[in-house]
Amino acid sequence: MTTNRRADDGSVIVWFRDDLRLADNPALVAAAQSGRAILPVYVHDEESHGIRRLGGAARWWLHHSLTALSGALKRHGADLHIFNGPAVEIVPKLAHTSGAAAVCWNRRYQQAEGALDDTVAVELEADGVEVETFNGKLIHEPDEIRPKSGFYKVYSAYWKAADASGALPEPEPAPKRLRGAEMPSGKVQATTLGKLGLLPTRPDWSGGLAQAFTPGETEALRKLGRFVETDLAAYGERRDNPGVDGSSRLSPHLRFGEISPRQIVAAVKEASRTAAGKVKAQKFLQEIAWRDFSYNLLFHAPDLATSPFAERFEHFPWADVPKASIRAWQQGRTGYPIVDAGMRQLWRTGWMHNRVRMITASFLVKDLLCDWRVGERWFWDTLCDADPANNAVNWQWVAGCGPDAAPFFRIFNPVLQGEKFDPKGTYVREFVPEIKDLDARFVHKPWEAPAEALHAAGIRLGETYPHPRVRHDEARDRALAAFKASREG
Ligand code: FAD
Repeated sequence: MTTNRRADDGSVIVWFRDDLRLADNPALVAAAQSGRAILPVYVHDEESHGIRRLGGAARWWLHHSLTALSGALKRHGADLHIFNGPAVEIVPKLAHTSGAAAVCWNRRYQQAEGALDDTVAVELEADGVEVETFNGKLIHEPDEIRPKSGFYKVYSAYWKAADASGALPEPEPAPKRLRGAEMPSGKVQATTLGKLGLLPTRPDWSGGLAQAFTPGETEALRKLGRFVETDLAAYGERRDNPGVDGSSRLSPHLRFGEISPRQIVAAVKEASRTAAGKVKAQKFLQEIAWRDFSYNLLFHAPDLATSPFAERFEHFPWADVPKASIRAWQQGRTGYPIVDAGMRQLWRTGWMHNRVRMITASFLVKDLLCDWRVGERWFWDTLCDADPANNAVNWQWVAGCGPDAAPFFRIFNPVLQGEKFDPKGTYVREFVPEIKDLDARFVHKPWEAPAEALHAAGIRLGETYPHPRVRHDEARDRALAAFKASREG
């Protein structure tokens, strides 16, 4: 922090990024507590070097999340000002023209974002503007939980250390009232949300997303309340069953910071104060800590979305997969009902159940022997919760090339996975309606159904529903051979 030439009279800019909420937002709380007038801003930056452009589903979410944030800020007395362009130019210029005394923000952890924030901070401080930054995104920031040297690469060790690290600060409530600052007229031109062009047009494919989700802080808090009340106790038993609404579905809200992980942890701990409750909550707390762990990995290995952590996978003999096979996977036409249901859930709703993310990813990487980065990119474009750390780390986990990954030779059998986790076929019937009337014995392997069963269910294999694109046993052998070759080569 530097000596501040405007300390007494200036306003404070709150620079919103992946923290689109009012409650437990440390940057906003600090700004409100300063007693200064507040200028809330959002800068849509697709120009700065290394900042990955958001995918389509995430852009849709962002639009609605900003709408919700803008409404909430207005109700509290301040207007959100939106800008489009390089933050590295806009934020210092805005601070200068508005005579701001300080700029507050919550930290980000991708390399390009960190570098950009550092540059902005240097410019601001050189101009006599105070900079204050906070942790508003993670339970523990990268490096807060660390071994004696290096960083944790194995989740179990990370979790053990994180779990033993002591109490967390209490989440802060939303400031009661904000004193909005006037937006200066002049050099920095604000824009409107509509002009950012975040919503899909021609065609507008977002109907299914809007049916499945309501972006915004109010809904995030409502969902947390409902989850804690009705689903937390059985989370450990039900989280793996895609036909059951057993997980929190908070991921897109977390992705855009409409709720903080510390709010979630506090609510979960509060709801599980008995010994039995603690045991039940533990599984959920472990899952949410995977998010921190992923950020810890991304912070230390910034290229995780594009480079295998295990270098020997750099030369893995991926197959030259025909475009038609990749399209069949993307569109849910592989002939494996659990894979197809997952990919269609993703396309229709912008979200997919965790177990099915693992099954569909495994199918692409191991049954089709396709480079995992093809899948990472598809998920990035289609998931509302597409997250730079979680997506990359989980794809590497499935592909076997991550720091703490499933071994490559552990290959999911899509039929057995379906039968185990969706035994009645509830999930596949919802998303693959052309096989919904098939007997549960065959719903995960229609090709084994006798002709009468197919006929009774109105299915003509190869016409109304595809034959399996690959034979799993053969695909498995091919994947194992490729793995063996990669180790020998
Ligand atoms: P819950 O089970 O209710 O868990 C609560 C929260 O914990 C989640 O919202 C999430 O923030 C965190 N969490 C849970 N599981 C994981 C995990 N395995 N890794 C990291 N964090 C986790 N999650 C994303 O948020 N964004 C992604 O882009 C993403 N891509 C994935 C890609 C693949 C191939 C796989 C296998 C998983 C991916 N995940 C991703 C992780 C996980 O599938 C989702 O976080 C989870 O399904 C979200 O549903 P939920 O909110 O109901 O989860």
